[in-house]
Amino acid sequence: MSAPAHRRALPEAPARRGWCPGLSRPMPTGDGLLARVHPPLGILTLPQARVVAEGARRYGNGHLDLTARANLQIRGISEATRAPLACLLEAAGLGDTRADGGPQRLTLTSPLAGHDPAESLDVPALARAIEAVGLTVPGLPAKTLVVVEGRLDAEMPDGDACVFPRASGGIGIAVAAEQGFHDLATCAAEEAPAAVAALLQAFARTRMRRMRDLSPEDFSALAVAVHLEMQARVPSPVRERDRVRDATSPEDPGPSPQPSPARERGHGGVIRWAVPFSPRAGVEWLAPSQSVLTVDAPFGRCTADTLDRLVDRASCLGAGEIRLSPARGFVLLPLQAPSTADLTALAEDFIIAPDDPRRSVAACTGAPACASGSTPTLTDAARLAEIFALFAADGRSAHVSGCAKGCARPGPADLTLVGRNGSYGAVIGGAPGDEPAMHLPIEAVLERLGRAETIGLAAAFAPESTVMDFGGNGKPA
Ligand code: SF4
Repeated sequence: MSAPAHRRALPEAPARRGWCPGLSRPMPTGDGLLARVHPPLGILTLPQARVVAEGARRYGNGHLDLTARANLQIRGISEATRAPLACLLEAAGLGDTRADGGPQRLTLTSPLAGHDPAESLDVPALARAIEAVGLTVPGLPAKTLVVVEGRLDAEMPDGDACVFPRASGGIGIAVAAEQGFHDLATCAAEEAPAAVAALLQAFARTRMRRMRDLSPEDFSALAVAVHLEMQARVPSPVRERDRVRDATSPEDPGPSPQPSPARERGHGGVIRWAVPFSPRAGVEWLAPSQSVLTVDAPFGRCTADTLDRLVDRASCLGAGEIRLSPARGFVLLPLQAPSTADLTALAEDFIIAPDDPRRSVAACTGAPACASGSTPTLTDAARLAEIFALFAADGRSAHVSGCAKGCARPGPADLTLVGRNGSYGAVIGGAPGDEPAMHLPIEAVLERLGRAETIGLAAAFAPESTVMDFGGNGKPA
């Protein structure tokens, strides 16, 4: 059993790659220490949500991040307050789950898990079982992620591994590869936790950080480990039926990675890499008597006060818990449908409209909260979102990043701004690490974005457009 969080010393190299800043290992940032809270299955009871808000207010600076793995981060903690914060959260059942540097939360599920009529397996039960076996595997990288997906038609989430239902019956297990995924095995639901444990043990032995970086030999070792585990068990009818068409066997080193983004899954389902299914912002109906209310946090940020107000609203609507969404929002399953007054009040703090352009703009913490940033990314992203509405309606995306690390969105966006020395490098159709077309202050970025509505993003951010005469009609002369 690990020592209580407040007795453990703060490690010395918190900024190293792969760091997972749990309660006992908070990470220094521009606004103090940052501690990540990992609610089991991404679910907070209302009392737990109150405790998180109280902890952020008393022991942090009152600011919270919502992460793409449906966790929360409390910001602005100090050396003096980190121990009482850890004690407060541990007492509420929100403490760290392990002290060996492994993942504090191994699984990711849809925020509707257990309530989604489209699910064809018991996602919460399977996720809990996988969490339990994961704790027995030493040496796992801190960011190891197993997605438990319940929908037959779901897209394959972008984790290390995914456990999903097959249309033909049984549970499929796939692991990420550099250019797609390996469809590794099929098993019965009761076998899945042990099969995943064997997979994780084999992965830990490779000492790699991500499954997608494994060599073909390592993938073969994973496949062998899973199949040996399954063979050691009593044969199940499902596995026997699927054995012949199964993707791998101990004698067969396994198939080549299947290409992303799409692949036929068994009997007709389609697998694509994406985030787990999350409802759109606003109110939707799961069933005639069951509504779901989804609110997104602008740019993945909220405060202790806004969280408290959300808990107040959830309580009034009869929702017993708050679920965290990989879309960086909250999901409520209220007993009564929210009124217009409820939605209006919530819209003061959160994004309610599905077409709100802020949903198409990612932004990291930036300056002054993050020491690596030199630009106020959140303020600039809010200004950019207003002008970006036309592009957002067209399905385009933007990213305002405080530096080339790209914490909020490592991949490409239609427009990526990368902060450097107080201005932004503009990357069109690329990622934060790509070479910018030019460097501009935010005012010039917004001015060019206004032109882009007429001439397009690429032309508006082409270096030669600085000398173009746009005349009075907004079109190039
Ligand atoms: S992208 Fe850079 S500035 Fe933004 S939060 Fe990450 S490290 Fe900080």
